Amino acid sequence: MSSVVRVEADLNKCIGAGQCVANAAPAFAQDDDTGLVVVNQDLVAASELEAIENAVYACPTRALTLIIE
Ligand code: SF4
Repeated sequence: MSSVVRVEADLNKCIGAGQCVANAAPAFAQDDDTGLVVVNQDLVAASELEAIENAVYACPTRALTLIIE
């Protein structure tokens, strides 16, 4: 059985620090008005997993979560 990896953002924790974008754009962007994270792509492809993991670990407020289903 193959698993699916998704990334979710908690906008109540995001402070707009931009580490997610620095590590894994264009999977992530920041809202032009609020600066908060926008998840452009919630399904994580195997080729992007390392960059997105780096983004999750780099987030200073732990606003990003990887979910393996
Ligand atoms: S790194 Fe974390 S706090 Fe910064 S914009 Fe991304 S989700 Fe928000």
